[in-house]
Amino acid sequence: MSKNCDMIKDLLPLYADDICSEESRKAVEEHIKSCPDCKVELEKLGKNVVVSPQKDANVLKRIKKRLRIEKIVVSIISIMAVCGILLYGLVYFINEYESMDMEKYKILENVSVSEHDNAVWLDIKGYAASFDIDVLTLSDTNGKHLGIDDDFDSEKKNGYGITLKQRKIDDFTFNPIGSLKSFEMKIFDLDEKKDMMKVFYYDDINNKEYILWERD
Ligand SMILES: [Zn+2]
Repeated sequence: MSKNCDMIKDLLPLYADDICSEESRKAVEEHIKSCPDCKVELEKLGKNVVVSPQKDANVLKRIKKRLRIEKIVVSIISIMAVCGILLYGLVYFINEYESMDMEKYKILENVSVSEHDNAVWLDIKGYAASFDIDVLTLSDTNGKHLGIDDDFDSEKKNGYGITLKQRKIDDFTFNPIGSLKSFEMKIFDLDEKKDMMKVFYYDDINNKEYILWERD
């Protein structure tokens, strides 16, 4: 009887009761293939294995407890992952800006440019006035549209393009009846910006310009 046999003999009652670890189970099965003594021992145990009931219950209790904790941990991780994804989606949705639908919000009816007090003014009314002007683009003499922050050749810039943007979420609060406010803002003084030749609404979805004002 080898040293190994002593170890296996200790495992046999657990093996017979099916409560040993996967590793132990493999060790026992591997061993009894080549050890008739232990095999006989195991057969002797059969269903009438003598294990103190208290010990048996404790082992099972511990296994059950471990499984319960694992389940709780997996649940918590899953819930946190789902919450994280939802939060990310919500923040993305709230902060995402998009160009306003020109037809739906009657942009060309509600956005106009006037000239008075030696300056050019932007007038916005209706629903469009609920939003800040998100983008004022500039175009150069080649008609190329430039973002307000882009570097541009001041010799070439000759027009202001206006594009109204709204947050995606604002679409859900669309209420044309309740949108009665309007505002006017100065775009530039005529004497100061002598190279500014036009103001246009720039539909950046269809890449179209709608002229709102041109210098005489
Ligand atoms: Zn053996």
